[in-house]
Amino acid sequence: MINIDFSYAITIYIFLFVNILLVAWLFTKKRQKDKDLSLDPRFIWFCSVCTYTYINTKEDAISTCPRCGSYNKK
Ligand SMILES: [Zn+2]
Repeated sequence: MINIDFSYAITIYIFLFVNILLVAWLFTKKRQKDKDLSLDPRFIWFCSVCTYTYINTKEDAISTCPRCGSYNKK
């Protein structure tokens, strides 16, 4: 009787432990996803002249390419 209770307790303990790990993993994954989303795709610019990809968070409509200095439009 005690033995059955003990194994039952261990099963619950392992189940809870796995659940905590799963929640922690999902939380970390969600945070990583949020971090990725913080880089807005509209801040990523692609130069049409030299095909250079760069990030510009200041400009919205027209931005200057840091490599060749040409103006790029969205
Ligand atoms: Zn360029």
